[in-house]
Amino acid sequence: DDLINKIAAGEVVERPASVVKELVENSLDAGAHTVQVALEGGGLQRIVVSDDGHGMGREDAVLCLERHATSKLRELDDLENLVSKGFRGEALPAIAAVSRFTLHTAEPEAEVGTRVRVEGGGGLHVEDAPPRVGTVMTVEDLFYNTPARLKFMRRGETELKHVEEAVIRIALAHPEVSFLVEHGGLPLFTSPACPDDPTERIAAALGTDVHPHLFAVEERRLGLSVSGHIASPEYTLPTARGIYTFVNHRYVRDRGLIGAIQRGYQEYLPSGRQPLVVLFIDVEPHAVDVNVHPQKMEVRFADSRGVYDAVLAAIVRTIRAAPW
Ligand code: ADP
Ligand code: MG
Repeated sequence: DDLINKIAAGEVVERPASVVKELVENSLDAGAHTVQVALEGGGLQRIVVSDDGHGMGREDAVLCLERHATSKLRELDDLENLVSKGFRGEALPAIAAVSRFTLHTAEPEAEVGTRVRVEGGGGLHVEDAPPRVGTVMTVEDLFYNTPARLKFMRRGETELKHVEEAVIRIALAHPEVSFLVEHGGLPLFTSPACPDDPTERIAAALGTDVHPHLFAVEERRLGLSVSGHIASPEYTLPTARGIYTFVNHRYVRDRGLIGAIQRGYQEYLPSGRQPLVVLFIDVEPHAVDVNVHPQKMEVRFADSRGVYDAVLAAIVRTIRAAPW
């Protein structure tokens, strides 16, 4: 079962950025208004994610770290099934299996909180702790017990860039939540909640100089909506890394979607230049398969033609209508 857990860990926990992604998504699931991420050593030394969400009672705090994988995984089929589902309910045990893990949590009215420690997936230790509001997850010495994985880690700076990118992807989709990311005690990314003006979030995440160039996109069709913001063709980038697409609020990188966006800009951008785009495509849950390849963030639409047409039309219409 140790082997299975390590396989599981390898799938969920590729690098510090994947830990941060899982922990921050959990904080959002818990209804947090504020999420703080504090890092040391590019996240390899320490990752602390604190939230003001609904927290956990003692039973859940212990349960969420127990390895359901071992009992559920009997055959390779099960493993494949789990991989394709992105290991729902397996993230925390997988992270705790390859780090020194501490969870501190309390429910809103609780008189006492709970602290749980796990080292390398073993020796689960539970104790009373102050009843802080929400949850703090601390991940130290990531991959200390999986030297093969540790060898693949880049310099702290590189890992930090990946962490920053992971937070930006989440933060762009959640302007109603306040984010604070720091490394070595210095702020890296700070963005207060801005539910009424998501352009503030885009500026905080992708550069304040883009702010005056942003225009709202809004395209609604039957069972499909395309919304978000795009930068005027005056604001260009050398790569497609400024194109952020979300399907049902989940970050995706789909060639068809990116292609449709690029086609929309085609006659407006100098050749070799790319636009800055933050686009949300919302469809009925059954009209998209988000589990085609979770790690690669690919999706498959039931009506991909319809989606790409709508995206293309939305981009072109916005560019034509904008006063630039
Ligand atoms: P999943 O998110 O797929 O359920 P995880 O392993 O990421 O699996 O988390 C397991 C469970 O632990 C969650 O379903 C949730 O009940 C609880 N949990 C994790 N993080 C938090 C948090 N920050 N606040 C409250 N509950 C949490
Ligand atoms: Mg989770």
